[in-house]
Amino acid sequence: MIRDRSERTDGSTDGNDVERCVNCGDRIETDEWHPVDTARDADGEFVLVQFCTEACRDAWSKE
Ligand SMILES: [Zn+2]
Repeated sequence: MIRDRSERTDGSTDGNDVERCVNCGDRIETDEWHPVDTARDADGEFVLVQFCTEACRDAWSKE
């Protein structure tokens, strides 16, 4: 059986302007400044990652 896929999947492209901290998963308000960094995804492409606080960025980048 093939199900209708019109339901949103993970919500990543539904226009919601809330991002998540890649370190702790907290929601980030995109209309406020927050720390960012670059990382490589599974394909080796550079991607921009976002953090809720500088402390989270520091903790993440130490790994
Ligand atoms: Zn965080």
